[in-house]
Amino acid sequence: MRFSDARLEGFREQLLSQQRVTEQLMADLGSDIRLIVEARHDSNVDDEHDPEGATIAFERSQTDALLKQSTQRLGEISAALRRIDLGTFGTCVNCGQQIAVARLDARAYAATCIDCAR
Ligand SMILES: [Zn+2]
Repeated sequence: MRFSDARLEGFREQLLSQQRVTEQLMADLGSDIRLIVEARHDSNVDDEHDPEGATIAFERSQTDALLKQSTQRLGEISAALRRIDLGTFGTCVNCGQQIAVARLDARAYAATCIDCAR
């Protein structure tokens, strides 16, 4: 066993709190998107040619990108929580090497070692 139970619990706590933060962010982004859609509806503009419409479209795509990123992060977090349960937490899913502890401290959801992440 590479990590003590207490250490693993620490990582689990970290992952669970990141999960909560990410879910909250996604909820906020969801309401942002509704507001943007309403703004677009109200202004009734042509996206392509009206400068305001272009701004709204840009904001929408930024928000969509963040939402996508958050969805991906949530997947990484729940996979990491599963690895804790399975006892494989801290092992690179790609090459099987141990992931540096500093990397796990910075991002407990990391599934691969730094070499494989490159
Ligand atoms: Zn690796």
